[in-house]
Order: sequence, then structure tokens, then C-alpha cells
Amino acid sequence: MTEPTSLPLRNPRTGAHDGDLPVTATADVAAAGQQLRAAQPAWAALPVEQRCARLAALAEAIAARREALLELLLADTGRWHESVIEVDGTIAAIRRWAQQAPACLEEKPPQVEAIGFIHSQQTWVAYPVVGVISPWNFPLMLTLIDAVPALAAGCSILAKPSEVTSRFVPLLREALAEAGLAEVFVLVTGAGATGQAVIEASDQICFTGSVATGRKVGEACARRFIPASLELGGKDPALVLSDANVEHAARALAWGSFVNGGQSCMSIERVYVEAPVAERFIAALTREAAALTLTCDDPKAGQIGPVIAASQVELVRGQLADALARGARALTGGALVERGGVWCPPTVLVDVSDDMAVVRDESFASVLPVIVVADEAEAIARANATEFGLSAAVFSSDQQRALRVARQLQAGGISINDACLTGMVQTAEKQSFKLSGMGGSRMGTASIRRFVRARALLINNGTASPWWFPPAA
Ligand code: NAD
Repeated sequence: MTEPTSLPLRNPRTGAHDGDLPVTATADVAAAGQQLRAAQPAWAALPVEQRCARLAALAEAIAARREALLELLLADTGRWHESVIEVDGTIAAIRRWAQQAPACLEEKPPQVEAIGFIHSQQTWVAYPVVGVISPWNFPLMLTLIDAVPALAAGCSILAKPSEVTSRFVPLLREALAEAGLAEVFVLVTGAGATGQAVIEASDQICFTGSVATGRKVGEACARRFIPASLELGGKDPALVLSDANVEHAARALAWGSFVNGGQSCMSIERVYVEAPVAERFIAALTREAAALTLTCDDPKAGQIGPVIAASQVELVRGQLADALARGARALTGGALVERGGVWCPPTVLVDVSDDMAVVRDESFASVLPVIVVADEAEAIARANATEFGLSAAVFSSDQQRALRVARQLQAGGISINDACLTGMVQTAEKQSFKLSGMGGSRMGTASIRRFVRARALLINNGTASPWWFPPAA
């Protein structure tokens, strides 16, 4: 089959095809991998402080292009405020790694004084080429979140952002060149076939995306015997307990569910509320949701941006239609708004059942089903009755109770009396449970350890080891 040389770019605000994305030929991805493998030893041999100085330069080169980057992210994602947070947060994260990485890598595995005449040295050895495959919901941040600590560790990077949101690539290439990183960081563009070519050319993969694609990526990595960090989807629950401050919970959950139009992996996508506070909570949540406005007329006014990926539109429409046809009620929203692009108004759904797709499957949209439960035990059981385990939230005015409940939830990051804190506090280590992912923590300083292997050098001081065969006569 011949490879396409370009893919159409769709503007999510207008729905128009307003550009073309060049597709990197598979042979060129392989060649880039070889070039990176050749350049990496010299990069890894630099003192970590010198690698970090280039990362600091990258942060400045991106900062110098901030306005242009924001326009490109606006064209690809249709949203402004979240893009500002994304660009500024990414610059801050690169600066943080530039400062922290030397200390993280200095902490070598413990020296083993094995036996009197043998001593050991332990060192970190970076993976030569780390492949990064990223999704469309935070295009710049999720392309760099793993790449930056991997670079600091001494790896080279072969990155493929989502074909839905790659307009920033030429500008990032410019910034990388300015920071002296072009030889060790190559960006390629394209869809799934390009992603597969990245896997073939890499020694380790960091993948962020859906469970379905993550499974294919994991299988391809297993065939090649290379490690894969998989950061996948979720259906994150929130539990509102009977002693929760319902106004506080409603505000937090309106943000946690509807920010970025619900297109965040750690979005709250289900609420279980205990019966005694259900009516008050649902009324407060409905008020909060109804007050949010769409950005149809002006991307800088309003809170809810368009559905970014065209492929999501039918999925969300289908979930809503199925739920409403089977008796669910939308207290706000409930139908998509088409204005060239497509918007999903904040939708609070009640009278839902666990077998509805909107309760069971990832929506990745501003849709929030609310389920009334009899007690804490039922809330925990139903929150855990899912194949996902990314994050969750618990609301209670009794912190000890909230923590006790949180410890029974099968998820890697749990906010107490707030929502989506794992997205805002990137220094706390966490891992995904169940189908939401695999691999070490990408958050916190432990993240950098994913990119190095421990090597033990065991040194005999010249003594005949007692376990050797007896000397030949
Ligand atoms: P996706 O799985 O469709 O695509 C992700 C990336 O994989 C894209 O770059 C795509 O081109 C590439 N790809 C597609 N097929 C491939 C293949 N066969 N081999 C290799 N690469 C391939 O995901 P998406 O729709 O872009 O993103 C949305 C999903 O990402 C949601 O499920 C969301 O929950 C998840 N996500 C998870 C996190 C997290 O940290 N856990 C963060 C953001 C998004």
C-alpha cells in the first residue's frame, strides 16, 4: 500500500479543512532513528549540567515563540485559555527539570560492598532512543512531558505528535535547533503507520492515548522487547459523601468535568452521590454547569471550547442519544451545538444506569452522569466497577473518612475535596491502575528513572575467589 504524503488538517472551530500535514515517510522515520542512535552517545557523555543548560535554553526558545505557538494551538484545538495554561505550564516544567535533573541522576543505586575482595560501582545507562507518541488533547505538553526528563537522562528523542494537532511542530523544531538540541530530538508527523515506524526505530516507548491504541503499542513493544510507558484513558469517578460541602463539591466538579470541554484524561466522568445530599448537590451542580458558556463566537470568551477531534463527535452524539432514549434526563445541555465546529454544552445527566455507554465508556466530552447511591459502600463498589483506574475524587467534610474511602478506590491519583489535582500538581508520583496504563510514574522526580537502566560493575581486587574450581594441578 502506498503511504499518503499528507493528511488534511481540520479547524475544530470552523470545521473547515484549512491545511495539510506532511507525513514523514516510514523510511525517513527509520533513518531518523539511526541518526539519533549515532548522536546519542556524545549527548549522554556530556555532564548532566550541560544537558540541562540546553534544556533551559529550550524553555527560553519556546517562551520567545509563545504568541505564535498559542495561535497554532488555537488553530488545532480551537481553545485559548487552556492553551495559555498548556504553553506556560510546559515552559515551567522544562525549567524545573533543568534545575532538578542533576540531583535526580546523582542519586545512584546503593554501592554494594559485596564481599571483602569485591566492590561495586553502580551507574545509570540511558536508553539510546526514546520514542514518544502523543494525543491531541494537550498537544505540546504531552509531546514534551516525557521527552524532557528523557533528554536530561541522556536519551535522544523521536517524537510523533497526534496527526489531529501537529501544527506546532515546525515551531518546536525551530526552538530545538536554537537550543542546540536538533541532533538529539527529531519530530516526525503522521498517523498510526508513522507511530508504528517510531516503535520500530526506538529502544523505549512513551505512549499517551486511548486504551485501544495503547494495546497495539504495548503489543508492538513486546514483540521488540522494548519497555513501554502507557498513559491511557479513564472513566474517573467522583464520590460525594453525605457529609460533603455540596456547594464546594459542585464547583470543583463543574471544573473537573467540564474544563477543556471534558477533553482531559483525568476529567471526572461519573459522580456517585449519597442519597441524603443528592438533591442539593444535583441542584448546585446544575447551577454551576448552566452558568458556563460556549466559545462559539470568541475563543477568548466563554469556558467550553469545541470538540477537538472530528472522530469524537459521533462517539459523544451516540452516547447522549443512547442515554436519553433509555430514560436519562439532561438537566443542562444534552445536545451538541453545530456552528461549523461542534460544541458539547456542559451536560448533567440523571436517571442513568450502569449499562449505558455514557456511564461505562470514556466520553472525553463535557458530559457528567450523576448516580444516587444508598451509602459509602455502594459508592465505592460502583466507582470500582470499571476497567479503568486513572484518577478519582472524594468529597467529605471529614478528612479521615475521605482518606479511608480514597484508599479503597482502584485508581492512581485521587483528589480529596477537589478534582483533577494530578493534572495541576505534577510533582506527586502516581501510576495508573487497570487498563488506564502501565509503567513507572511520569509525575514527580521518579519519572526520570524510567529512562535509565542500572548497570553494576563488580570489581575483584585480584583475589582468587573461593567458589572457583580448585586450581589445575
Ligand atoms: P489515540 O490512541 O487515538 O492516538 C494517540 C496517538 O497514537 C496519536 O499520535 C496517533 O497517531 C497514534 N497512533 C494511532 N494508531 C497507532 C498505532 N497503531 N501505532 C502507534 N501509534 C498509533 O488517542 P487520542 O484520540 O489522540 O487521545 C485521546 C485519548 O488519550 C483518550 O483516551 C485519553 O484518555 C488519552 N489520554 C491519556 C492521558 C494520560 O495521561 N493517561 C493523557 C491524555 C490523553
